[in-house]
Amino acid sequence: MTQIDPSKVAEVAATLKRKPIVSSACIGCGACVAISGDVFTLNDDGYSIVLEIPDYEGKDVDDSIAACPVSAISWSK
Ligand code: SF4
Repeated sequence: MTQIDPSKVAEVAATLKRKPIVSSACIGCGACVAISGDVFTLNDDGYSIVLEIPDYEGKDVDDSIAACPVSAISWSK
């Protein structure tokens, strides 16, 4: 049986609950939507917003963070 290191449980749980955030620095370039269209969409004003989904892991959010030209995307703490 696999044992989980108790000291890692909180760290893993926090990772699983992470959610991306888009700051007001967004210029609406659409890169994040092109990369992670199931996570980001542009609102009526043309700026990126985060869609509500159960789990953001494995959704290329890190690629969107790297691609954002104004560093507007980050993970929630
Ligand atoms: S990549 Fe950055 S600037 Fe472009 S739409 Fe997404 S959050 Fe906005």
